Amino acid sequence: MKTDLLIIGAGPAGLAAAFAASKSGLNIDIVDDNFQSGGQIWRGGAPQQSDVRARDMWLALSQAENVRFHFQSKLIQLERSEENLIATVEHNDQQRSSQIAARRLIIATGARELLLPFPGWTLPGITGAGGLQALAKNGYPVKGKKVVVAGTGPLLLAVAATLTERGAIVTHILEQASLASLSRFALGLLRTPTKLKQAFALGWKLKATRYLANSFVIAAEGKEQVATIRVSNNGDIQEFNCDLLACAYGLLPNLEIAAALGCAIENDDDMPRIKVDQWQQTNLNQVYCAGETTGIGGVDLAIAEGSIAGYAASDQRDLAIDAIKQRAIWQGFAERLKQGFALRSELRHLCQKDTIVCRCEDVRYAQLQDHADWRSAKLHTRCGMGACQGRICGNANRFLFSWERDLGRLPLHSCNIGHLIDTHIEKADSITSMNIASRNEQEI
Ligand SMILES: Cc1cc2nc3c(=O)[nH]c(=O)nc-3n(C[C@H](O)[C@H](O)[C@H](O)COP(=O)(O)OP(=O)(O)OC[C@H]3O[C@@H](n4cnc5c(N)ncnc54)[C@H](O)[C@@H]3O)c2cc1C
Repeated sequence: MKTDLLIIGAGPAGLAAAFAASKSGLNIDIVDDNFQSGGQIWRGGAPQQSDVRARDMWLALSQAENVRFHFQSKLIQLERSEENLIATVEHNDQQRSSQIAARRLIIATGARELLLPFPGWTLPGITGAGGLQALAKNGYPVKGKKVVVAGTGPLLLAVAATLTERGAIVTHILEQASLASLSRFALGLLRTPTKLKQAFALGWKLKATRYLANSFVIAAEGKEQVATIRVSNNGDIQEFNCDLLACAYGLLPNLEIAAALGCAIENDDDMPRIKVDQWQQTNLNQVYCAGETTGIGGVDLAIAEGSIAGYAASDQRDLAIDAIKQRAIWQGFAERLKQGFALRSELRHLCQKDTIVCRCEDVRYAQLQDHADWRSAKLHTRCGMGACQGRICGNANRFLFSWERDLGRLPLHSCNIGHLIDTHIEKADSITSMNIASRNEQEI
Protein backbone atom coordinates (compact mmCIF):
# COMPACT_ATOMS: atom_id res chain seq x y z
CA MET A 1 0.00 0.00 0.00
CA LYS A 2 1.25 3.49 -0.81
CA THR A 3 0.41 6.74 0.93
CA ASP A 4 1.52 10.37 0.95
CA LEU A 5 1.60 10.73 4.73
CA LEU A 6 1.79 8.04 7.40
CA ILE A 7 0.97 9.00 11.00
CA ILE A 8 1.83 6.62 13.84
CA GLY A 9 -0.48 7.26 16.80
CA ALA A 10 -4.11 8.40 16.89
CA GLY A 11 -3.93 10.26 20.20
CA PRO A 12 -4.46 14.04 20.40
CA ALA A 13 -1.19 14.79 18.53
CA GLY A 14 -1.80 12.26 15.74
CA LEU A 15 -5.43 13.33 15.27
CA ALA A 16 -4.47 17.01 15.18
CA ALA A 17 -1.74 16.24 12.62
CA ALA A 18 -4.17 14.31 10.41
CA PHE A 19 -6.83 17.01 10.77
CA ALA A 20 -4.39 19.73 9.68
CA ALA A 21 -2.90 17.71 6.82
CA SER A 22 -6.25 16.40 5.53
CA LYS A 23 -7.16 19.86 4.22
CA SER A 24 -4.38 19.54 1.62
CA GLY A 25 -6.00 16.55 -0.09
CA LEU A 26 -2.95 14.32 0.49
CA ASN A 27 -3.64 10.64 1.13
CA ILE A 28 -3.19 9.99 4.84
CA ASP A 29 -2.92 6.70 6.72
CA ILE A 30 -3.06 6.60 10.52
CA VAL A 31 -1.86 3.53 12.40
CA ASP A 32 -2.62 2.91 16.09
CA ASP A 33 -2.33 -0.21 18.21
CA ASN A 34 -5.46 0.65 20.19
CA PHE A 35 -8.83 -0.46 18.88
CA GLN A 36 -10.06 3.12 18.67
CA SER A 37 -8.80 6.69 18.43
CA GLY A 38 -7.98 9.01 21.34
CA GLY A 39 -4.65 7.81 22.76
CA GLN A 40 -4.15 7.88 26.51
CA ILE A 41 -6.27 10.84 27.53
CA TRP A 42 -9.29 10.29 25.26
CA ARG A 43 -9.63 6.63 26.18
CA GLY A 44 -12.95 5.19 25.05
CA GLY A 45 -12.61 6.85 21.65
CA ALA A 46 -12.44 10.47 20.43
CA PRO A 47 -16.18 10.61 19.53
CA GLN A 48 -17.17 9.82 23.14
CA GLN A 49 -15.28 12.69 24.79
CA SER A 50 -16.59 15.82 26.47
CA ASP A 51 -13.64 17.72 24.91
CA VAL A 52 -15.19 19.19 21.77
CA ARG A 53 -11.81 19.16 19.96
CA ALA A 54 -11.77 15.35 20.11
CA ARG A 55 -15.29 15.07 18.71
CA ASP A 56 -14.76 17.66 15.95
CA MET A 57 -11.50 16.17 14.74
CA TRP A 58 -12.94 12.67 14.72
CA LEU A 59 -16.06 13.76 12.84
CA ALA A 60 -14.05 15.51 10.12
CA LEU A 61 -11.47 12.74 9.78
CA SER A 62 -13.92 9.86 9.77
CA GLN A 63 -15.78 11.51 6.88
CA ALA A 64 -12.71 12.54 4.85
CA GLU A 65 -12.18 10.38 1.77
CA ASN A 66 -8.41 10.91 1.80
CA VAL A 67 -7.95 9.60 5.38
CA ARG A 68 -7.73 5.93 6.41
CA PHE A 69 -7.46 4.65 9.99
CA HIS A 70 -5.82 1.31 10.82
CA PHE A 71 -6.68 0.36 14.42
CA GLN A 72 -5.33 -2.62 16.37
CA SER A 73 -2.31 -2.15 14.13
CA LYS A 74 1.17 -2.00 15.56
CA LEU A 75 4.24 -0.69 13.80
CA ILE A 76 6.93 -3.36 14.11
CA GLN A 77 9.53 -2.41 11.50
CA LEU A 78 10.53 0.77 9.70
CA GLU A 79 13.03 1.16 6.89
CA ARG A 80 14.02 3.95 4.53
CA SER A 81 14.30 3.43 0.79
CA GLU A 82 15.43 6.21 -1.53
CA GLU A 83 12.03 7.86 -1.81
CA ASN A 84 9.88 6.22 0.81
CA LEU A 85 9.67 5.05 4.37
CA ILE A 86 8.51 1.46 4.45
CA ALA A 87 6.50 0.56 7.53
CA THR A 88 5.65 -3.02 8.43
CA VAL A 89 2.50 -3.16 10.50
CA GLU A 90 0.94 -6.10 12.35
CA HIS A 91 -2.85 -6.11 12.54
CA ASN A 92 -5.37 -7.66 14.93
CA ASP A 93 -3.07 -9.16 17.51
CA GLN A 94 -0.43 -10.46 15.10
CA GLN A 95 -2.98 -12.19 12.85
CA ARG A 96 -1.73 -10.56 9.64
CA SER A 97 0.73 -7.94 8.50
CA SER A 98 1.02 -5.39 5.73
CA GLN A 99 3.49 -2.85 4.42
CA ILE A 100 2.85 0.83 3.94
CA ALA A 101 5.21 2.90 1.78
CA ALA A 102 4.96 6.55 2.74
CA ARG A 103 6.61 9.68 1.40
CA ARG A 104 6.30 11.47 4.73
CA LEU A 105 6.00 10.33 8.32
CA ILE A 106 4.69 11.86 11.56
CA ILE A 107 5.55 10.03 14.76
CA ALA A 108 3.01 10.75 17.53
CA THR A 109 3.40 7.77 19.82
CA GLY A 110 3.00 9.52 23.18
CA ALA A 111 4.57 8.66 26.50
CA ARG A 112 4.62 6.03 29.20
CA GLU A 113 4.72 6.18 32.99
CA LEU A 114 7.94 6.11 34.97
CA LEU A 115 7.65 3.31 37.54
CA LEU A 116 10.33 3.37 40.22
CA PRO A 117 11.03 0.25 42.28
CA PHE A 118 10.65 0.10 46.07
CA PRO A 119 10.39 -2.93 48.36
CA GLY A 120 7.09 -4.67 47.62
CA TRP A 121 6.27 -2.76 44.41
CA THR A 122 5.63 -5.99 42.49
CA LEU A 123 2.81 -7.14 44.85
CA PRO A 124 -0.59 -7.69 43.21
CA GLY A 125 -2.76 -4.61 43.64
CA ILE A 126 0.07 -2.20 42.79
CA THR A 127 -0.03 -0.58 39.34
CA GLY A 128 1.03 2.59 37.61
CA ALA A 129 -1.21 5.59 38.30
CA GLY A 130 -2.39 6.04 34.71
CA GLY A 131 -2.31 2.25 34.47
CA LEU A 132 -5.06 1.86 37.10
CA GLN A 133 -6.97 4.72 35.49
CA ALA A 134 -6.87 2.94 32.13
CA LEU A 135 -7.95 -0.35 33.73
CA ALA A 136 -10.86 1.34 35.52
CA LYS A 137 -11.94 3.12 32.32
CA ASN A 138 -11.98 -0.27 30.60
CA GLY A 139 -14.19 -1.82 33.27
CA TYR A 140 -11.84 -3.10 36.01
CA PRO A 141 -13.94 -2.97 39.20
CA VAL A 142 -12.69 -0.43 41.76
CA LYS A 143 -16.02 0.28 43.47
CA GLY A 144 -15.68 0.27 47.25
CA LYS A 145 -11.91 -0.35 47.07
CA LYS A 146 -9.63 1.70 49.30
CA VAL A 147 -7.04 3.24 46.96
CA VAL A 148 -3.90 5.33 47.51
CA VAL A 149 -2.64 7.28 44.48
CA ALA A 150 1.05 8.17 44.71
CA GLY A 151 3.99 9.51 42.74
CA THR A 152 4.15 12.92 41.15
CA GLY A 153 2.45 15.37 38.81
CA PRO A 154 -1.04 16.62 38.02
CA LEU A 155 -1.89 13.24 36.46
CA LEU A 156 -2.35 11.93 40.04
CA LEU A 157 -5.37 14.23 40.45
CA ALA A 158 -6.89 13.11 37.13
CA VAL A 159 -6.37 9.47 38.13
CA ALA A 160 -7.90 9.96 41.60
CA ALA A 161 -10.90 11.75 40.05
CA THR A 162 -11.52 8.91 37.56
CA LEU A 163 -11.28 6.30 40.33
CA THR A 164 -13.60 8.30 42.61
CA GLU A 165 -16.15 8.63 39.78
CA ARG A 166 -16.11 4.84 39.50
CA GLY A 167 -16.83 4.35 43.18
CA ALA A 168 -13.33 3.85 44.64
CA ILE A 169 -12.50 5.38 48.02
CA VAL A 170 -9.31 7.30 47.29
CA THR A 171 -8.04 7.95 50.79
CA HIS A 172 -4.77 9.75 49.95
CA ILE A 173 -2.84 11.31 47.12
CA LEU A 174 0.88 11.21 47.97
CA GLU A 175 2.86 13.82 46.01
CA GLN A 176 6.65 13.66 46.26
CA ALA A 177 7.15 17.35 45.34
CA SER A 178 7.63 19.82 48.18
CA LEU A 179 4.94 22.30 49.20
CA ALA A 180 7.17 25.16 48.00
CA SER A 181 7.45 23.64 44.49
CA LEU A 182 3.73 22.97 44.39
CA SER A 183 2.93 26.54 45.44
CA ARG A 184 5.15 27.93 42.66
CA PHE A 185 3.48 25.60 40.14
CA ALA A 186 0.01 26.61 41.36
CA LEU A 187 0.89 30.32 40.99
CA GLY A 188 2.07 29.63 37.44
CA LEU A 189 -1.39 28.27 36.62
CA LEU A 190 -2.60 31.89 36.55
CA ARG A 191 -0.92 32.05 33.12
CA THR A 192 -3.08 29.21 31.79
CA PRO A 193 -6.64 29.88 33.06
CA THR A 194 -8.06 26.70 31.51
CA LYS A 195 -5.65 24.59 33.57
CA LEU A 196 -6.49 26.62 36.69
CA LYS A 197 -10.17 25.90 36.12
CA GLN A 198 -9.39 22.20 35.65
CA ALA A 199 -7.39 22.17 38.89
CA PHE A 200 -10.30 23.71 40.82
CA ALA A 201 -12.76 21.24 39.29
CA LEU A 202 -10.52 18.30 40.24
CA GLY A 203 -9.98 19.70 43.75
CA TRP A 204 -13.76 19.93 44.21
CA LYS A 205 -14.28 16.33 43.05
CA LEU A 206 -11.57 15.17 45.44
CA LYS A 207 -12.64 17.07 48.54
CA ALA A 208 -12.87 13.82 50.53
CA THR A 209 -9.29 12.80 49.62
CA ARG A 210 -6.23 13.89 51.64
CA TYR A 211 -3.48 15.40 49.48
CA LEU A 212 -0.06 15.10 51.13
CA ALA A 213 2.89 16.99 49.64
CA ASN A 214 6.48 15.98 50.37
CA SER A 215 5.34 12.36 50.63
CA PHE A 216 6.31 9.13 48.93
CA VAL A 217 5.88 5.39 49.37
CA ILE A 218 8.96 3.68 50.78
CA ALA A 219 7.64 0.11 50.99
CA ALA A 220 4.53 -2.01 50.48
CA GLU A 221 3.52 -5.16 52.32
CA GLY A 222 0.83 -7.80 52.10
CA LYS A 223 0.50 -11.58 51.82
CA GLU A 224 -1.20 -12.18 48.50
CA GLN A 225 -2.04 -8.57 47.73
CA VAL A 226 -0.90 -5.16 48.91
CA ALA A 227 -2.44 -4.41 52.32
CA THR A 228 -0.20 -1.78 53.94
CA ILE A 229 2.14 0.87 52.63
CA ARG A 230 4.88 2.65 54.50
CA VAL A 231 5.13 6.31 53.60
CA SER A 232 7.59 9.10 54.22
CA ASN A 233 5.47 12.17 54.95
CA ASN A 234 7.56 15.29 55.57
CA GLY A 235 10.27 12.99 56.88
CA ASP A 236 7.97 11.09 59.31
CA ILE A 237 7.29 7.42 58.61
CA GLN A 238 3.59 6.54 58.58
CA GLU A 239 1.57 3.46 57.63
CA PHE A 240 -1.62 3.41 55.57
CA ASN A 241 -3.90 0.51 54.71
CA CYS A 242 -5.17 0.12 51.16
CA ASP A 243 -6.59 -2.43 48.71
CA LEU A 244 -4.89 -0.85 45.69
CA LEU A 245 -1.88 1.41 45.23
CA ALA A 246 -1.56 3.38 41.97
CA CYS A 247 1.96 4.80 41.83
CA ALA A 248 3.98 6.48 39.06
CA TYR A 249 6.61 9.21 38.89
CA GLY A 250 5.47 11.17 35.86
CA LEU A 251 5.74 10.37 32.16
CA LEU A 252 8.61 9.81 29.74
CA PRO A 253 8.43 10.01 25.93
CA ASN A 254 8.21 6.83 23.83
CA LEU A 255 11.39 7.09 21.78
CA GLU A 256 11.76 3.67 20.18
CA ILE A 257 10.37 4.38 16.69
CA ALA A 258 12.17 7.68 16.19
CA ALA A 259 15.41 6.19 17.53
CA ALA A 260 15.11 3.18 15.19
CA LEU A 261 14.92 5.54 12.23
CA GLY A 262 17.97 7.47 13.43
CA CYS A 263 16.25 10.66 14.63
CA ALA A 264 18.41 12.76 16.97
CA ILE A 265 17.50 12.58 20.65
CA GLU A 266 17.89 15.57 22.95
CA ASN A 267 19.26 14.58 26.31
CA ASP A 268 20.04 17.90 27.91
CA ASP A 269 18.07 17.39 31.15
CA ASP A 270 16.27 14.64 33.03
CA MET A 271 14.00 13.88 30.10
CA PRO A 272 15.26 12.38 26.82
CA ARG A 273 13.08 13.47 23.89
CA ILE A 274 13.11 13.64 20.11
CA LYS A 275 14.78 16.76 18.78
CA VAL A 276 12.61 18.78 16.38
CA ASP A 277 12.85 22.16 14.65
CA GLN A 278 10.17 24.89 14.65
CA TRP A 279 8.12 22.83 12.14
CA GLN A 280 8.30 19.71 14.33
CA GLN A 281 10.63 18.15 11.76
CA THR A 282 13.34 15.85 13.10
CA ASN A 283 16.89 15.91 11.76
CA LEU A 284 15.64 13.56 9.02
CA ASN A 285 14.00 14.95 5.94
CA GLN A 286 10.20 14.38 5.84
CA VAL A 287 10.14 12.78 9.29
CA TYR A 288 8.18 14.79 11.89
CA CYS A 289 7.42 14.23 15.57
CA ALA A 290 4.63 15.67 17.69
CA GLY A 291 3.05 15.33 21.12
CA GLU A 292 4.63 13.70 24.14
CA THR A 293 7.41 12.09 22.05
CA THR A 294 9.05 15.52 21.94
CA GLY A 295 8.62 16.14 25.70
CA ILE A 296 5.84 16.02 28.27
CA GLY A 297 3.44 18.97 28.17
CA GLY A 298 -0.16 17.69 28.24
CA VAL A 299 -2.96 17.50 25.74
CA ASP A 300 -2.96 21.17 24.64
CA LEU A 301 0.72 21.11 23.69
CA ALA A 302 0.20 17.76 21.93
CA ILE A 303 -2.62 19.25 19.81
CA ALA A 304 -0.61 22.39 18.92
CA GLU A 305 2.46 20.35 17.94
CA GLY A 306 0.36 17.86 15.99
CA SER A 307 -1.28 20.68 14.01
CA ILE A 308 2.09 22.25 13.15
CA ALA A 309 3.52 18.89 12.07
CA GLY A 310 0.41 18.20 9.96
CA TYR A 311 0.56 21.57 8.21
CA ALA A 312 4.32 21.31 7.63
CA ALA A 313 4.19 17.75 6.31
CA SER A 314 1.46 18.75 3.83
CA ASP A 315 3.14 21.94 2.59
CA GLN A 316 0.60 24.27 4.23
CA ARG A 317 2.94 26.07 6.60
CA ASP A 318 1.12 29.39 6.23
CA LEU A 319 -1.89 27.86 8.05
CA ALA A 320 0.14 27.06 11.17
CA ILE A 321 0.28 30.58 12.68
CA ASP A 322 -2.34 29.99 15.41
CA ALA A 323 -0.91 26.61 16.36
CA ILE A 324 2.56 28.14 16.67
CA LYS A 325 1.19 30.73 19.15
CA GLN A 326 -0.58 28.00 21.11
CA ARG A 327 2.59 25.91 21.20
CA ALA A 328 4.52 28.78 22.78
CA ILE A 329 1.90 29.11 25.56
CA TRP A 330 1.88 25.39 26.33
CA GLN A 331 5.66 25.07 26.14
CA GLY A 332 5.72 27.52 29.07
CA PHE A 333 3.32 25.24 30.95
CA ALA A 334 5.51 22.22 30.12
CA GLU A 335 8.57 23.99 31.55
CA ARG A 336 6.72 24.84 34.79
CA LEU A 337 5.53 21.22 34.98
CA LYS A 338 9.09 19.97 34.69
CA GLN A 339 10.39 22.31 37.39
CA GLY A 340 7.43 21.85 39.75
CA PHE A 341 7.59 18.06 39.75
CA ALA A 342 11.33 17.35 39.45
CA LEU A 343 12.10 14.07 41.21
CA ARG A 344 13.76 14.13 44.65
CA SER A 345 17.00 12.20 45.05
CA GLU A 346 15.69 10.05 47.97
CA LEU A 347 13.72 8.06 45.39
CA ARG A 348 17.04 6.70 44.11
CA HIS A 349 17.65 4.94 47.43
CA LEU A 350 14.43 3.06 48.16
CA CYS A 351 15.53 -0.35 46.86
CA GLN A 352 16.82 -3.04 49.22
CA LYS A 353 19.35 -5.58 47.91
CA ASP A 354 16.57 -8.06 47.08
CA THR A 355 14.14 -5.57 45.49
CA ILE A 356 13.22 -6.66 41.98
CA VAL A 357 14.09 -4.00 39.41
CA CYS A 358 13.45 -5.86 36.12
CA ARG A 359 10.24 -7.74 36.71
CA CYS A 360 10.23 -9.51 33.32
CA GLU A 361 13.48 -11.31 34.17
CA ASP A 362 13.36 -11.12 38.01
CA VAL A 363 16.59 -9.15 38.28
CA ARG A 364 17.24 -7.72 41.74
CA TYR A 365 18.88 -4.47 42.77
CA ALA A 366 22.02 -6.14 44.20
CA GLN A 367 22.66 -7.86 40.84
CA LEU A 368 22.76 -4.49 39.10
CA GLN A 369 24.65 -2.33 41.56
CA ASP A 370 28.18 -3.20 40.43
CA HIS A 371 27.68 -2.73 36.70
CA ALA A 372 29.12 0.24 34.90
CA ASP A 373 26.44 0.61 32.26
CA TRP A 374 23.22 -0.72 30.80
CA ARG A 375 24.97 -3.03 28.33
CA SER A 376 27.07 -4.71 30.99
CA ALA A 377 24.01 -5.15 33.24
CA LYS A 378 22.03 -6.62 30.35
CA LEU A 379 24.72 -9.07 29.30
CA HIS A 380 25.35 -10.35 32.81
CA THR A 381 21.85 -10.35 34.32
CA ARG A 382 19.34 -10.32 31.41
CA CYS A 383 17.95 -7.06 32.81
CA GLY A 384 15.73 -5.48 30.13
CA MET A 385 15.78 -8.57 27.93
CA GLY A 386 12.31 -9.87 28.72
CA ALA A 387 8.88 -9.26 27.26
CA CYS A 388 8.88 -5.46 27.65
CA GLN A 389 12.44 -5.13 26.28
CA GLY A 390 13.46 -2.61 28.93
CA ARG A 391 10.50 -0.28 28.37
CA ILE A 392 9.86 -0.23 32.14
CA CYS A 393 13.17 -1.02 33.86
CA GLY A 394 15.17 0.92 31.24
CA ASN A 395 13.70 4.21 32.42
CA ALA A 396 13.97 3.17 36.09
CA ASN A 397 17.65 2.29 35.63
CA ARG A 398 18.25 5.59 33.89
CA PHE A 399 17.01 7.30 37.07
CA LEU A 400 18.67 4.91 39.55
CA PHE A 401 22.07 4.47 37.89
CA SER A 402 22.19 7.12 35.11
CA TRP A 403 22.49 4.39 32.46
CA GLU A 404 21.40 5.25 28.92
CA ARG A 405 19.31 2.47 27.42
CA ASP A 406 20.18 1.17 23.94
CA LEU A 407 17.23 2.35 21.90
CA GLY A 408 16.03 1.78 18.40
CA ARG A 409 16.45 -1.96 17.92
CA LEU A 410 14.29 -3.57 15.25
CA PRO A 411 11.80 -5.16 15.33
CA LEU A 412 10.16 -2.58 17.58
CA HIS A 413 7.95 -5.11 19.39
CA SER A 414 7.81 -8.84 19.77
CA CYS A 415 6.02 -9.99 16.64
CA ASN A 416 5.19 -12.97 14.46
CA ILE A 417 8.49 -13.97 12.84
CA GLY A 418 6.60 -14.95 9.66
CA HIS A 419 5.63 -11.31 9.17
CA LEU A 420 9.29 -10.22 9.20
CA ILE A 421 10.22 -13.01 6.80
CA ASP A 422 7.38 -11.91 4.45
CA THR A 423 8.86 -8.40 4.47
CA HIS A 424 12.22 -9.69 3.30
CA ILE A 425 10.72 -12.03 0.69
CA GLU A 426 8.77 -9.08 -0.74
CA LYS A 427 11.95 -7.02 -0.76
CA ALA A 428 13.93 -9.83 -2.44
CA ASP A 429 11.15 -10.30 -5.00
CA SER A 430 11.16 -6.65 -5.92
CA ILE A 431 14.99 -6.63 -6.24
CA THR A 432 14.82 -9.74 -8.46
CA SER A 433 12.16 -8.21 -10.70
CA MET A 434 14.21 -4.98 -10.89
CA ASN A 435 17.27 -7.02 -11.94
CA ILE A 436 15.30 -8.95 -14.55
CA ALA A 437 13.83 -5.69 -15.87
CA SER A 438 17.25 -4.04 -16.17
CA ARG A 439 18.77 -7.19 -17.81
CA ASN A 440 15.90 -7.18 -20.32
CA GLU A 441 16.56 -3.52 -21.04
CA GLN A 442 20.25 -4.24 -21.66
CA GLU A 443 19.40 -7.17 -23.95
CA ILE A 444 17.07 -4.98 -26.00
C1 LIG B 1 -1.29 5.94 31.16
C2 LIG B 1 -1.51 7.41 30.88
C3 LIG B 1 -2.69 8.04 31.31
C4 LIG B 1 -2.89 9.40 31.06
N1 LIG B 1 -4.04 9.99 31.54
C5 LIG B 1 -4.22 11.33 31.37
C6 LIG B 1 -5.36 12.01 31.90
O1 LIG B 1 -6.24 11.41 32.51
N2 LIG B 1 -5.45 13.35 31.75
C7 LIG B 1 -4.49 14.07 31.09
O2 LIG B 1 -4.61 15.30 30.97
N3 LIG B 1 -3.40 13.45 30.57
C8 LIG B 1 -3.24 12.13 30.70
N4 LIG B 1 -2.12 11.52 30.22
C9 LIG B 1 -1.18 12.34 29.47
C10 LIG B 1 -1.60 12.26 28.00
O3 LIG B 1 -0.97 11.14 27.45
C11 LIG B 1 -1.25 13.43 27.13
O4 LIG B 1 -1.65 14.63 27.67
C12 LIG B 1 -1.81 13.30 25.71
O5 LIG B 1 -2.65 12.20 25.54
C13 LIG B 1 -0.65 13.14 24.77
O6 LIG B 1 -1.11 12.95 23.47
P1 LIG B 1 -0.19 12.21 22.40
O7 LIG B 1 -0.99 12.18 21.15
O8 LIG B 1 1.15 12.82 22.37
O9 LIG B 1 0.03 10.72 22.95
P2 LIG B 1 -1.02 9.52 23.28
O10 LIG B 1 -2.32 10.06 23.70
O11 LIG B 1 -0.29 8.64 24.22
O12 LIG B 1 -1.18 8.78 21.88
C14 LIG B 1 -0.19 7.97 21.32
C15 LIG B 1 -0.82 6.84 20.55
O13 LIG B 1 0.20 6.13 19.81
C16 LIG B 1 -0.09 4.75 19.85
N5 LIG B 1 1.17 3.99 19.61
C17 LIG B 1 2.31 4.02 20.33
N6 LIG B 1 3.25 3.19 19.79
C18 LIG B 1 2.67 2.62 18.70
C19 LIG B 1 3.11 1.65 17.72
N7 LIG B 1 4.35 1.09 17.73
N8 LIG B 1 2.26 1.28 16.74
C20 LIG B 1 1.00 1.82 16.68
N9 LIG B 1 0.52 2.73 17.58
C21 LIG B 1 1.35 3.12 18.57
C22 LIG B 1 -0.66 4.54 21.26
O14 LIG B 1 -1.46 3.39 21.33
C23 LIG B 1 -1.51 5.82 21.45
O15 LIG B 1 -2.84 5.63 21.04
C24 LIG B 1 -1.90 10.15 30.40
C25 LIG B 1 -0.74 9.51 29.97
C26 LIG B 1 -0.53 8.16 30.19
C27 LIG B 1 0.76 7.50 29.72
